[in-house]
Amino acid sequence: MNKPDAISWHERARSLSFRTQAFVNGRYVDAASGGTFDSLNPATGKLLARVASGDEEDINRAVAAARAVFRKGSWANLAPAKRKRALFRFADLILKHTEELALLETLDMGKPIGDSLKVDVPGAARCIQWYAEAIDKVYDEVAPTGAAALATITREPLGVVGAIVPWNYPLLMAAWKIAPVLAAGNSMVLKPSEKSPLTALKVAELAVEAGIPEGVLNVVPGFGQTAGKALALHMDVDCIAFTGSTATGRSIMQYAGQSNLKRVSLECGGKSPNIVLADYPDLDKAASAAAYAIFINQGEVCSAGSRLLLQEGIKDAMLEKVQTISKKLQPGDPLDPGTKLGAIVDEIQMKRVLGYIDSGRRDGANLRFGGRRVREDSGGFFIEPTVFEDVRPAMTIAREEIFGPVLSVITFKTPEEAVEIANDVVYGLASAVWTRDVTTAHRMARAIRAGTVYINCYDADDITVPFGGFKQSGIGRDKSLHALEKYTELKTTWLDLS
Ligand code: NAD
Repeated sequence: MNKPDAISWHERARSLSFRTQAFVNGRYVDAASGGTFDSLNPATGKLLARVASGDEEDINRAVAAARAVFRKGSWANLAPAKRKRALFRFADLILKHTEELALLETLDMGKPIGDSLKVDVPGAARCIQWYAEAIDKVYDEVAPTGAAALATITREPLGVVGAIVPWNYPLLMAAWKIAPVLAAGNSMVLKPSEKSPLTALKVAELAVEAGIPEGVLNVVPGFGQTAGKALALHMDVDCIAFTGSTATGRSIMQYAGQSNLKRVSLECGGKSPNIVLADYPDLDKAASAAAYAIFINQGEVCSAGSRLLLQEGIKDAMLEKVQTISKKLQPGDPLDPGTKLGAIVDEIQMKRVLGYIDSGRRDGANLRFGGRRVREDSGGFFIEPTVFEDVRPAMTIAREEIFGPVLSVITFKTPEEAVEIANDVVYGLASAVWTRDVTTAHRMARAIRAGTVYINCYDADDITVPFGGFKQSGIGRDKSLHALEKYTELKTTWLDLS
């Protein structure tokens, strides 16, 4: 069978149906207030769906459902091997609905359909499979107390987890929470971003179809200031697992302090340095990685290599190559399988990115290429790949997260200076070093304050490795077995044997 082309994706989009109600206790329901908000297609600016606008009352109902099923124990006390089987079925159903979910993701947030098909949907399914596979292989501990006592250290689910996620990888970021939260036996309330709620609403029913008890996974769409805040302030929520901006992360911590001291884990923003030393022999490879590190997903990536630090002498050669690659990364119709760069998620974000481009110009950085809104006649929100050179570390475009296809290029003389520049921001999510000298690579990797340091690559990824940030990029880690630490409590049980 031929692969679908842009025309057939548009045809499928026209006949696609959307789940637009909240999913509470196994059923789709309107918002308690009856209110809705508009979800627009960022590639056209046109209305896609009217989605239930959840607020405090909807959060209360969802938390009550999650608590009730947790108390009942039909999921929390299920043998891990049985939870494993249900989660496997859940992942299989996600894969079975790949085309539908990919289409929803692309229509809702503007990313290319090829990415949704190859990255987002299979990545979400793989994440759920991985935690399913892991959960009946994790053992508890016996403490070395001596013969007079038996002290066991066991991990128990927390109870009700609230997850708040962003719009850049809506399904994948949700899966990074759902998989370890459910594998560990918790119930949860997920609040997707108001800019991209559709895939989360669809997978909720797949969880129940897979045999996960009703009430274990609830999804309440709505705004941050209403539904998100109510979830983070809720007295019966044991933990908030948050992914989003550092500014919102700060509020989440305050809500936890104002309410019940619930646990908080934060996956926040970044301004990641991608450092290329002059001794690195393959500038083609480094340039290609540098372009994809910032332009993939329209630059809407928390770990984007948004600061390119080049050692003196290689700047022009590198930037010529980056420009050649960028010509192949021009924004296009997200439903065309050939498109590599889609639409910016909405008009607000597009204006924000264009504002940063103006600020770069004003601060005296040199616009090497790009810088404009394009495809305006589509009604959508597209920005071309943009590179500023002669950027100084003190400029706004070198310090703040832009979250769009804008690269700031800074030059340096020595590896020590590069590390100093790399660390001189409030973020510490990802970073990269390109050099042929293994000692320099490891020295720099140790000195860079970031959750991930890539050496001679960028954006290498696997569910087996933890992901998260130093400094204001966050607290805690997603992915790998380390994520289970966030969603379990340690219990010591002491038995006197004397
Ligand atoms: P955002 O902080 O605006 O929103 C994230 C989520 O929080 C949304 O669901 C939103 O509705 C909710 N929210 C907003 N205000 C709230 C409040 N006062 N109380 C409770 N909830 C609230 O972020 P965004 O624009 O959706 O996403 C982009 C950000 O996410 C970037 O900073 C990016 O770096 C970050 N991000 C980080 C990671 C990571 O793993 N570190 C991954 C993806 C995205």
